[in-house]
Amino acid sequence: MTHYVYDFDEPADGGRELLGGKGIGLAEMTQLGIPVPAGFTITTEACRAYMASGGEVEGLEEEIAEHVERLEERTGKRFGDPEDPLLVSVRSGAAISMPGMMDTVLNVGLNDESVEGLARSTGNEEFARDCYRRLIQMFGETVDGIPHESFSIDDSVERAREIYEHDTAHGFPQDAREQLRRAITAVFDSWNSSRAKIYRRTYDIPDDLGTAVNVVQMVFGNKGESSATGVAFTRDPSTGEQGVYGEFLLNAQGEDVVAGTRTPQPLEELHDRLPEAYDQLLATMAALERHYRDVQDIEFTVEEGRLYLLQTRTAKRTAAAAIKAAVDMTAEDLIQRDEAVARIDPKQLDQLLHPRLDENAQFEVAAHGLNASPGAASGKIVLDADTAEEHGKAGEAVILVRWETTPDDIHGLIQAQGVLTAHGGMTSHAAVVARGMGKPCVAGCDDLDIDSGKKTVRIGRHKLREGDVITIDGGTGRVIVGEVPLVPPAINEDFETILEWADELRRLKVRANADNAEDAAKAREFGAQGIGLCRTEHMFFGEERLPVMQQMILAGDEAGRRDALDRLLPFQQSDFEAIFEAMAGLPVTIRLLDPPLHEFLPDESEATDERMRRRIRQLHEQNPMLGTRGCRLGIQWPEIYEMQVRAIARAATAVQERGGDAPLVEVMHPLVGFREELRRLRELTERVMEEEAPELDYLCGTMIELPRAALRADEIAEVADFFSFGTNDLTQTTLGMSRDDAEGKFLTFYLEDSVLERNPFEVLDQEGVGDLMRIGVERGRETKPEMKLGICGEHGGEPSSVEFCHGIGLDYVSCSPYRVPLARLAAAQAALNEADRAEYVQAGG
Ligand code: PEP
Ligand code: MG
Repeated sequence: MTHYVYDFDEPADGGRELLGGKGIGLAEMTQLGIPVPAGFTITTEACRAYMASGGEVEGLEEEIAEHVERLEERTGKRFGDPEDPLLVSVRSGAAISMPGMMDTVLNVGLNDESVEGLARSTGNEEFARDCYRRLIQMFGETVDGIPHESFSIDDSVERAREIYEHDTAHGFPQDAREQLRRAITAVFDSWNSSRAKIYRRTYDIPDDLGTAVNVVQMVFGNKGESSATGVAFTRDPSTGEQGVYGEFLLNAQGEDVVAGTRTPQPLEELHDRLPEAYDQLLATMAALERHYRDVQDIEFTVEEGRLYLLQTRTAKRTAAAAIKAAVDMTAEDLIQRDEAVARIDPKQLDQLLHPRLDENAQFEVAAHGLNASPGAASGKIVLDADTAEEHGKAGEAVILVRWETTPDDIHGLIQAQGVLTAHGGMTSHAAVVARGMGKPCVAGCDDLDIDSGKKTVRIGRHKLREGDVITIDGGTGRVIVGEVPLVPPAINEDFETILEWADELRRLKVRANADNAEDAAKAREFGAQGIGLCRTEHMFFGEERLPVMQQMILAGDEAGRRDALDRLLPFQQSDFEAIFEAMAGLPVTIRLLDPPLHEFLPDESEATDERMRRRIRQLHEQNPMLGTRGCRLGIQWPEIYEMQVRAIARAATAVQERGGDAPLVEVMHPLVGFREELRRLRELTERVMEEEAPELDYLCGTMIELPRAALRADEIAEVADFFSFGTNDLTQTTLGMSRDDAEGKFLTFYLEDSVLERNPFEVLDQEGVGDLMRIGVERGRETKPEMKLGICGEHGGEPSSVEFCHGIGLDYVSCSPYRVPLARLAAAQAALNEADRAEYVQAGG
């Protein structure tokens, strides 16, 4: 027969999955000789059997009865005894922690008679009555479903009982065993409460795990001045500093510490109050940390000078604390370097690379938008780029607030602390530019209204004027009226250490997407091993350049275009020189012009003359994403790409002549779908390079961002030196979704309604887009086994996508400068996971 119940000191094979997190902690502590109240765990298997049968579990009741009997023997108290009753808590505890999601009932075993006995045996009537009141209320809520609001902590026992009787139409159960049985059933049922289900969906926890139930002898921290209760961490969970951190309350019960009804004292003060218990607590915590080799978060109670541990678990911590603890524990020989690297959650690192809101501060969120670029900033509202530039240059903090931004706003964006837009998605101009600059951006904020005439805005229910201060949090999409204190980014020695260890473990190289020397330098500082994508379109904006670019587009013939391009060339060249210098000795992939030309012209209503108006109309497209863009521009107007290749060649030569390292130039053609496209563009590239810099070593390759390119990668590889997967466009074209038309619209609905689990523009769709990548890799390498392969879509900085890229054998990932540290860590973890799997297979797993 299946064994469903285990005493804490009874060996069980199923570990955490069987006993749950709390149960395994109590069992291991008991077995380590750490003082834990006596008790037993009813397994998750019992819960699963309960759910499967719809109620009855054969043999369970008898087994529980046996364990209660053993508990009575051990404690010398009897369950239901009217004089000195055994009291227990009934606590849930799933294998994966779901804090506060399921139910717990304390003080089970009290009734009208035994409450008097408890008062006598403790000499404390108030305490006994308080315990009984808590039981009636907790039992009423969790077992009988009485609304929480029906009760109050000020209720007397009589009042609580009255409410119970009124709401349930029966008396409070007096039989201790019945209380226990019903409390256990209620904990099982709480696994399927709607809040628990929502939590599981949010954190990807399977619905069929079930919860264990722990029945634990009650120990009381509220038996006078030699009793106490508290919580503690073995290291500071916000900084990772060594030392003991925690708080306690003398003469109190567990929930008083969390409920905030009394202010707890810092743990050190326990030393003066109960020195023996304090010393024992410190020794116990040290033993627990040595055993678990990780920071522990514990609950304890001191009953009349005697210490008991009620729980131990791996402490949740900030990114800074995770890093410090991992580095320190490696120095203390508790863990190895690879374990230290494996323990840091790369997603959490974002916290460290941008200023954040101080979550301890008081603030009210006025509106939500898309979390388009991480970081937080406060500043005065400005409604146009010129004002932003003016105030920014004067040293004022400003937030640019717009319906949406355009390339014309760039000077304002540069001077602003952050940007807030009412329209636009994650790839809107504001979002892309802000991410590149490492500035916060909240985009697509529906609850924002702008009246540029009156210079007012409405954010949620707040009416504000230009000049009023707001705070935006681009990491979460929150918009707040007024200033909120910020916590600055922290890149310290420990962070560097972890990243260096990660570098020793990873196979994937990490490059950055950077369009200017400043971003390139930032990327290098963060450890980028080159530039995987330098977009060139931003180089055509700016006061002096845009009018020339427009002349090129408006020119009636090739000669006119060439004339304008000749004037643009020096600008491009100087931009490339600065980037090559910042990246001296490292590869730099320059992507030739990609967006449709109409992006460089104003709106038709703003055309300055008839010729411009006509050209704007001519260039209008129904679906610009699928129109005349990418290499199609270079095929139709080769002089544009010629100028760009010439500028690259001249910049490389100039940098080399100035004595710098020769840059490793990689010319990349966008949106190639056919071999013939790249064949022609390769010929163009080779011709211009031969004219300008015959000695220069360079590579000529393509982005793979169309399904056809992935499928015909073998042919395309014949004329390519490298491939870089452009998964932004590859996702759009594979899924048939325009990102700007999906995010904040139907895609949001899909995610809310669980049609899709993840946003495929953030987390690579491994089955669909990923499969095309796999095909592209296989077919490309069939033609050229040594071909260099990378990714430069935004997925290159997302941990699970980085692991996928490692798995299909790419050589590098490329992501925004601020995500480089995250990608370094994710690449190391991918290598570690692969090694683990190999070991498992070798061991016959
Ligand atoms: C891509 O499509 O993945 C890419 C990197 O190019 P862009 O985002 O500039 O279209
Ligand atoms: Mg693209």
